[in-house]
Amino acid sequence: MKYDASFQAVSASRRAFLRGAVGMVSATSFSSSLALTGSALRPTDKTIVVTFGGGARDEETFAEEGQANIPNLLHTLLPQGTFFTQVRNAGILGHYVATASIVTGVYERFNNFIAQPPPNPTLFEYFRRELRRPETDAWVIAPSNGFQKIGSSSARGFGPQFGAGVILPKRLLSAASRNTPNLFDNDQLQHFLQDNYEMPSYDISATAQDNEMHLDTLESTLRLSVQDFVQHAKTLDSADELSIFIARRLMDQQAPSLMMLTLHDMDVAHSGAFSLYIDAIQRADRLCAELWKAVQSHPEYKDRTTVYIMPDFGRDADDDPAGNGFQHHRTGSAMARTTWLLALGPHVRQNTVVDRAIESIDLVPTIGCHLGFSTNSPGRCIEELR
Ligand SMILES: [Zn+2]
Repeated sequence: MKYDASFQAVSASRRAFLRGAVGMVSATSFSSSLALTGSALRPTDKTIVVTFGGGARDEETFAEEGQANIPNLLHTLLPQGTFFTQVRNAGILGHYVATASIVTGVYERFNNFIAQPPPNPTLFEYFRRELRRPETDAWVIAPSNGFQKIGSSSARGFGPQFGAGVILPKRLLSAASRNTPNLFDNDQLQHFLQDNYEMPSYDISATAQDNEMHLDTLESTLRLSVQDFVQHAKTLDSADELSIFIARRLMDQQAPSLMMLTLHDMDVAHSGAFSLYIDAIQRADRLCAELWKAVQSHPEYKDRTTVYIMPDFGRDADDDPAGNGFQHHRTGSAMARTTWLLALGPHVRQNTVVDRAIESIDLVPTIGCHLGFSTNSPGRCIEELR
């Protein structure tokens, strides 16, 4: 890939930032000769993938001036996991198509702004088809209506019968609001309902059938009454908090083996509001730690769950004349394309930093080789996480 030197520069400065952080991990490179023994699949193994839709730059996170925004990632989670400083995304930098690429392990090329099933099989279909897992065992919690088709592909031999259930928290809330207008103070909950920040005019019109389906999900899957759901939502600050609430509810009610959620508040950066972007980074940092704590205190998840945290991509650098700084991710520069991965779990080496370049499409084959199902991805199983 061209830009090789600039990708490595991002990675090298990220490692330097980590070394400088107070109480930070002993940035020791993983040696392949220390590879852990391959894991035999246990039926109880669980996997949670958290992506940040929108990404955040090092200036606001790992760099010295940004570290105050991510105390939980730096001081609680990194020491418990393996951190990859250089994850390259060579695909299209739009959130739906990039997230679809993460879940198929193939750089997808379709139009980011049309909700459509990915053409290549998803992680969820590989997992359920080969391991014969029930439909309640794989879920996606996603921020935007545009993600409604991400649970399964249009590939031959795959499809919704093997896919993940997709929960769109904003759609749940808007369906609930139609059902119980008396409980709803629109001003109070309006901040949850903006569909996405990349394209604010995205069509979110819902049919009566959509509403019914979402209300059914509330009751049958999450076992929540509309009233309780709305009342709880009123106590939360943001859509990401709502997503974490739903993730925890799913863990309690369905205990799925495979769950993916996308935190998306930080993409408010597109509006140009730097302070809201920073608030969202701080919130994502806190929510990741809350999720890990919930995993480690949950009888179905404790000590048997691998959590992968990976932004879908970065954002534009301040000095890039083709961009507008933190606001967007349009330039395709190394800063916008170089993200990171933090993995935590019983088979994952703790307190370890890995600099070698990996790609965002490596996640699917990595989960496959760890859990014992095959995938057809050009990416590679990440040896350190096998
Ligand atoms: Zn964005």
